[in-house]
Amino acid sequence: MSERQESTLDEFGLIAKFFSRGGSSKSAWPSQGVGDDCAFLDVETTRIAVTADMMALGTHFLDDADPYKVGRKALAVNLSDLAAAGATPEAFFLSLAIPRVDQDWLEKFSEGLYYESNLYECPLRGGDTTKSAPVDGKSGKTVISICAMGELPMGQGMTRSGARPGDDIWVSGTPGDAYAALGTIWKEFSCGSKEFEYFKSRMDVPTPRVELGQHILGFATACCDISDGLVGDLKHILDRSGVSARLDWDKFPMSDAMRKMSESMRRKCILGGGDDYELIFCVAPRNRELIEQVSRLIKLPLTRIGEILPVDESFTIVGKEGETIEPPPSFNHFA
Ligand code: ADP
Ligand code: MG
Repeated sequence: MSERQESTLDEFGLIAKFFSRGGSSKSAWPSQGVGDDCAFLDVETTRIAVTADMMALGTHFLDDADPYKVGRKALAVNLSDLAAAGATPEAFFLSLAIPRVDQDWLEKFSEGLYYESNLYECPLRGGDTTKSAPVDGKSGKTVISICAMGELPMGQGMTRSGARPGDDIWVSGTPGDAYAALGTIWKEFSCGSKEFEYFKSRMDVPTPRVELGQHILGFATACCDISDGLVGDLKHILDRSGVSARLDWDKFPMSDAMRKMSESMRRKCILGGGDDYELIFCVAPRNRELIEQVSRLIKLPLTRIGEILPVDESFTIVGKEGETIEPPPSFNHFA
């Protein structure tokens, strides 16, 4: 038997190596393929946006996380991918691996799941349930996998690949808040109890920016939701669009709670922290007024934080005094 090859691949390296082969050209449903927040499947005159996101207790949630909030977040993160494509949520499928039938947990989990489902009018249409096997004598982990689908106008849909030099870079809400909670729990830094309560609410129940996605669909050149960290997710846009960027740190939005934190904590959370599910998107400067209008209409702060540059210029984050800021690492399974 051949020896197993030890891996030096990270999350995105392994996807590129093993799961990004073209082929399947015989399918009657053309698609842009792997690499964006959603795949677009063109079924005759309808474009369907499809995404799948898996969450494991112990990896994405603390082992003792409130099951109601786990249910809400499990669906919210999928709706966030639909939002990044500008799609309208229409249906989802739930695959669940659980170590045992804990009715109390299932009751609260399903309540959270259906709350989110009703809020965004995205019904559960099927799925699968299985027992997760014990590992080394310990009970198996709960794993929640959701596939969500939405509808797009034919020929439309935001991807990560359309950003052009000169485009403005915008972000919704106040990224960094979710990681401020996680980093506090992990004792990386500390904050007051009032601030922690706020940060934790942002981590536990993120708001998928579905309405925003629908409004910018017509004119944003690229979009991505922030799940792994602002800089890391922006870099997905830069890679796929073949461009570079400059970010202006002094323009970044910040929650009132974040304003009270140290500069080093702010940088770590806002630039590197994931789990916010805000949208980062690119728009030509001539459309600035349109973005301001959208912001007022949906009552969501939208902030211009930088500019897309030609690919031969290096990626930089410029600090308040014109100094260069080193970006903290973003989240990456297997990094
Ligand atoms: P997201 O954070 O929006 O879930 P990622 O950046 O993690 O997306 O994933 C990058 C791309 O790789 C996405 O298009 C996703 O659909 C695709 N992808 C991830 N894992 C797999 C897999 N096992 N098989 C095929 N495609 C995958
Ligand atoms: Mg995403």
